[in-house]
Amino acid sequence: MKVRLVKLPLFFVLGQKFIYSGPHMVKEIDALLKRLFPICRSITGNGVRKTLSIIRTHVPLKIKEVPTGTKVFDWTVPKEWNIKDAYIKDPSGEKIVDFKKNNLHIVGYSIPVNTKMKLSGLKKHLHSIPEKPSIIPYKTSYYKENWGFCVTHEQLTSLKDGTYEVVIDSSLKDGSLTYGELLIPGKSKDEVLISCGICHPSMANDSLSGVVLATLLAKELLKKKGRYSYRFLFIPETIGAIVWLAGNKTGAKRIKHGLVATCLGDSGQFNYKKSRAGNASIDTAVEKALKDSKMPYSILDYWPTGSDERQFNSPGFSLPIGSLMRSVYGHFPEYHTSGDNLDFVKGKYVEETLRLYAEVIFILENDALCTSRNPFCEPQLGPRGLYDDHHPEEFVISLLWLANYSDGKNTLLDIANIADQPFRAVQAAAESLEKVGFLRLG
Ligand code: ZN
Repeated sequence: MKVRLVKLPLFFVLGQKFIYSGPHMVKEIDALLKRLFPICRSITGNGVRKTLSIIRTHVPLKIKEVPTGTKVFDWTVPKEWNIKDAYIKDPSGEKIVDFKKNNLHIVGYSIPVNTKMKLSGLKKHLHSIPEKPSIIPYKTSYYKENWGFCVTHEQLTSLKDGTYEVVIDSSLKDGSLTYGELLIPGKSKDEVLISCGICHPSMANDSLSGVVLATLLAKELLKKKGRYSYRFLFIPETIGAIVWLAGNKTGAKRIKHGLVATCLGDSGQFNYKKSRAGNASIDTAVEKALKDSKMPYSILDYWPTGSDERQFNSPGFSLPIGSLMRSVYGHFPEYHTSGDNLDFVKGKYVEETLRLYAEVIFILENDALCTSRNPFCEPQLGPRGLYDDHHPEEFVISLLWLANYSDGKNTLLDIANIADQPFRAVQAAAESLEKVGFLRLG
């Protein structure tokens, strides 16, 4: 039995739209990762603005500023944090910790400090990971005014008694929270949401890989109008999602499907965290895209920690939003450390994930209710040129499944799953049946 595999082509067809993948896309992803990686981002401040201005060179983002003190549900927009420099000098005057060499050295949102102190006092402000002695951890203190440095455990244990000079040239003042938003209008006002976090400093998988994927996916989707409208959010995690939802309580109802894009650039297998409902169309579409890809994957039930799916799935909104990742946040050793860098994350893995996102979008764009126009027994396919040796077997099998299951209740995706056939094969067969007048789609 000869079965034609539906190979993922170099170009992904979305209606007549092409989503480019391949070496040029890998190059573009690598370049954008490299450009954005060094920036010191946080939940507010100039690092976020600089990041958004670079994204804006690719896609026409709208940049929004929300003032400090704005009430958003149970939260308040915090003060704006900026940092120019931070270091520690040892008793001999040598700079031993330098923010300019690695921005993870500073605890995010550290207040300004300029002092001298004994090692015993300084140690209360130093963070390391004893189990991973050669890497720098990532720490923040957004909602409690504090300061600190993150160092390798090897460095911490090598410090000698004496007086240290500590300088943090930062500011924590009233300002604003900055985020980016892009709406790509489609034929329908119903929306697909892609959301990513722009608040992490120099770490590549969490969450920069998602920012890069979202940018380049948006760039492709801008080329031609789709069935859905696509909304892209580039927001600081948690507070950014809360700010957006507070300002769009009614508008959020237009979101019919969505994905939070993070941790998608390492070599790990794919993981899909389902929406809280667990049976939304996005859950079925992602699972089908994963299955059809023939790559290894796991499907994970929703849980209430993680990224911004927590806010989107909160009971007041209950939006159908999951998260398609590779290694799951918190479950890879490099997570929230200096190990999450550009040796760990590669353009070729982001590109592979981008192709999967494109496939999910292909399914969402093309899924439709199937109603037979010839419901009384099977249609005779031979005279219509549909039942011959020229067609691959999975096409012919798909025709028969469609002829039988197009009862006005099942969609293409339902039938592809019931038949256990690739979505693209069923979709191609459905188009042929529609052309000869046997099927109504939509
Ligand atoms: Zn994180």
